[in-house]
Amino acid sequence: MKIGFLGLGHMGAPMAANLVKAGHDVLAFDPVPAAQEQARADGATVVPTATEAVAGREVVITMLPNGKLVLDVYGDILPAAEPDTLFIDCSTIDVADAKTAAERAVAAGHRALDAPVSGGVAGAAAGTLTFMVGGAEADFAAGLPVLEVMGGKVVHCGGAGVGQAAKICNNMLLGVSMVALSEALVLGEKLGLSHQSFYDVVSTASGQSWSLTTYCPVPGPVPTSPANNDYKPGFATALMTKDLGLAANALRDNGVDGQLGTLAAQIYTRFNQADAARDFSAIVTDIRDRSNQEAPE
Ligand code: NAD
Repeated sequence: MKIGFLGLGHMGAPMAANLVKAGHDVLAFDPVPAAQEQARADGATVVPTATEAVAGREVVITMLPNGKLVLDVYGDILPAAEPDTLFIDCSTIDVADAKTAAERAVAAGHRALDAPVSGGVAGAAAGTLTFMVGGAEADFAAGLPVLEVMGGKVVHCGGAGVGQAAKICNNMLLGVSMVALSEALVLGEKLGLSHQSFYDVVSTASGQSWSLTTYCPVPGPVPTSPANNDYKPGFATALMTKDLGLAANALRDNGVDGQLGTLAAQIYTRFNQADAARDFSAIVTDIRDRSNQEAPE
């Protein structure tokens, strides 16, 4: 297929590279020279402007930092594309911005999907991302072969914006669960409960969660978790803070009494000011510090 790809950062670069590897014809644009160089090395045809990347394309993929940028870029590229081009935005953005982007694409005579991802840079490189897709059934069917090149799992969640809804609901739950687990671990430390005993009980009891059994925020019980690697991400605190901010906006905009989601956004916003680059599971160290508790040996 003839694909335009805009946004060749940590995620976009390996996603575009996988499309090239699968035999697609990729025109790529990013304003940053290093990103352009990488895309060229990966076999994409790099063009000097966003509008050139969409001209004559069947599918246009965007992987950008935020919703304002997606709407700005759509303002430039929608008029430059052939009628009926399929626009797939894979960025994580506000549900409201995702709906606006889709409406503008349709009003300009195109088709649109929101398709945010989970799986991080490693998943993008391996082509095993999970895509959460919002948009019309026929447009989903048209985008599926392209998404399947970059992803291991592609789920059609509903109409425009509902892919973003799935993403922020999941990440709100993850943020809340990581804070709750970390508070329980630090309380256990104060009460003389070892991390291993905590794990052995809770991992098979009613407090069990993905945060504990796959991503345990203290070193030891789950050797592959970032806690064993000095909290190198994984999923950086800055990204969790962004997603919780989007969730808090959605709670407010939709009149949901989401007290824990809102509080988790505040907790991560504060932690992010000190420790944006470490994995989000390092929140346990902040809770421990604020509780005047020493880390166990
Ligand atoms: P990034 O900052 O590494 O990449 C964004 C890229 O967009 C940059 O290369 C930037 O130069 C480019 N860009 C900026 N303005 C542009 C424009 N006008 N036209 C074309 N390109 C432009 O970010 P990332 O980590 O790749 O994340 C991209 C999106 O994916 C974000 O919305 C993020 O929340 C989401 N996401 C990231 C991860 C992750 O682990 N990094 C995981 C899931 C989702």
